Amino acid sequence: MPEPKRSYWEEELYNQKHDLIVVGAGLTGLSSAYFFKKKHPSAKVLVIDRGFYPLGASTRNAGFACIGSVGELVADLELETEEVIKQRIQDRYNGLLLLRETLGDENIDYDSCGGWEIFTDSDEYVRLSDYVPRLNSIMEEMIGEKEVFEVGTYLSFPSFYNRVEGMLHPGKMIRTLYEKCIQSGIEFRWNTNIDHIDTETNLVSSKSQIRFQAEKLIIATNAFTDKIFPKINIKPGRGYVFITKEIDQPKWKGTFHYNKGYVYFRNVGDNRILIGGGRNINHDAETTSEFGVNEEIKKYLVSFANDTLELPEGWKIEQEWSGIMGFTESKSYILEDIDKNCVLAAGLSGMGVALGMNLGKKASELV
Ligand SMILES: Cc1cc2nc3c(=O)[nH]c(=O)nc-3n(C[C@H](O)[C@H](O)[C@H](O)COP(=O)(O)OP(=O)(O)OC[C@H]3O[C@@H](n4cnc5c(N)ncnc54)[C@H](O)[C@@H]3O)c2cc1C
Repeated sequence: MPEPKRSYWEEELYNQKHDLIVVGAGLTGLSSAYFFKKKHPSAKVLVIDRGFYPLGASTRNAGFACIGSVGELVADLELETEEVIKQRIQDRYNGLLLLRETLGDENIDYDSCGGWEIFTDSDEYVRLSDYVPRLNSIMEEMIGEKEVFEVGTYLSFPSFYNRVEGMLHPGKMIRTLYEKCIQSGIEFRWNTNIDHIDTETNLVSSKSQIRFQAEKLIIATNAFTDKIFPKINIKPGRGYVFITKEIDQPKWKGTFHYNKGYVYFRNVGDNRILIGGGRNINHDAETTSEFGVNEEIKKYLVSFANDTLELPEGWKIEQEWSGIMGFTESKSYILEDIDKNCVLAAGLSGMGVALGMNLGKKASELV
């Protein structure tokens, strides 16, 4: 059906210039709108998303509130300078504190359970153990916490324990933040896919000819950014997750990483286990912004649940889904002006729970 002409009343209501438009209502976009409005209470702020609810990663992730495992940090130290890694740890830690302080632990089911990294390769475990004193001193310097990593075992698995991590409920995280945005008077347009953004005039438009204009723009479209700005180098990466049906007294309680973080799992309530990851099994196929299930990865994770985690016989998947992450080349997010009054905040590279809110806040200050 062709779009009908707008009425006089519609024109008056909807064709207004906003002070700020945010494209993307994930954790980054909602946070940027929230902190901008907090600083400028009389500003007209509009958030636009293509989904009926945010349709990327923020409500589809595993809810790990993590700042870095030994395996991940050592892999990073082999590729990047210590300064870059220190900055990232501090960013994640401060981001997590800001998220908890802003939303309240009780509203997001925050559990400070710590994070385990388990190993089946004992040579790798011994090699990584040598790094623990260095990583503990980095942690102490950057976040002021002593002896963050402990060397030990979980069940019979050689492991490292990170005592400052936790888990939360991603759905409740976004719902609480959305409610705060509504309470502060921020407007929303859902189901509106933005196809074009003119960063000189700050005119934002969709194929259905709906147009919005603002003094300032924040683009928080993460993995989908190159569909609007093809020159921005953020590669999509699909992530797969499933939750089991109820299991009688599962022996795994807390958040866990395995194989440099490529596989992760946690308890959900008292009787369910969430398992996700495995992108390394079929990396090329998972470099996509299409949602869907890769059967090869699913098979790998199911075998991992049977053979390594030894879930009780007869366990079943209750629900499975995918989400799309946005990866930059350097693994560090992009926060930059793409024009005079237009800021891009995207490319959280798979660890956005700790980073997203602080990135949004920084974007609201930069714009
Ligand atoms: C399966 C999975 C598990 C994960 N697990 C964890 C975890 O345990 N811990 C952790 O820290 N991180 C995890 N992550 C990563 C984390 O979820 C993300 O880094 C974070 O949510 C990114 O937030 P964002 O707001 O920047 O992007 P998104 O949440 O992806 O939001 C982008 C929004 O932009 C909208 N959008 C895009 N293009 C357009 C357009 N053209 N017009 C209008 N709207 C548009 C989308 O609909 C979407 O709502 C996981 C990710 C996945 C996929």
